[in-house]
Amino acid sequence: MNILITAGPTREPIDPVRFLSNRSSGKMGYALAQAAVERGHEVTLITGPTCLTPPATARVLPVETAMEMLDATLRSLDGINAAILCAAVSDYRPANPSPTKLKRSKNTPDSLALVENPDILATLGHLQTRNFFLAGFAAETDNVANNAKDKLRKKNCDMIVANLVGKSGTGFEADDNEVVVFMKSGEQVELPRLSKHDVAHAILAIIEKH
Ligand code: C5P
Repeated sequence: MNILITAGPTREPIDPVRFLSNRSSGKMGYALAQAAVERGHEVTLITGPTCLTPPATARVLPVETAMEMLDATLRSLDGINAAILCAAVSDYRPANPSPTKLKRSKNTPDSLALVENPDILATLGHLQTRNFFLAGFAAETDNVANNAKDKLRKKNCDMIVANLVGKSGTGFEADDNEVVVFMKSGEQVELPRLSKHDVAHAILAIIEKH
């Protein structure tokens, strides 16, 4: 298959030296890219800034902001069989990033105006025609099943991989993950705590079956 994967965080500039971002390390997305290559698939990896090394044979498109990630994703849909959107995309971006470094002033700014970023997963989910399998992730601190099913419906995708974050040893920045896979069909697969590499193989096996 031809598989598109998004990974890592996005960075939303406040000024040339500061940004809004999140704790995503990119490990889950890079593990998916690695496992997909190991399973003989062609991989396009659209990645926010991470410290990781992508698989040598993947086509890698580095991006920084959510808008750049959306643009790179929409340009890469031709001929894909599956898209796995694993990136932790910033929901908002500063409305008016400064072209020059902001200086400390006596008057502490009391707000930072934000505007909403596009939801890349929902954008693909609501394309008029889609002939590829669409999978997303849901990192939740609570109410995992309900939130995941809600995302499956609202973002109109075929599969949501849900994981509990805030637990030590799994989720953001960790090497392991413990996930539940929710399918559009209503099917549900609970995976035990595994390395992200093994979780990636299990997710790809489910996608291959569908
Ligand atoms: O709504 P939430 O951010 O929890 O949804 C997570 C899923 O949606 C992930 O698959 C993530 O990659 C995707 N997403 C996206 N664009 C956004 C926000 C989330 O593609 N702006």
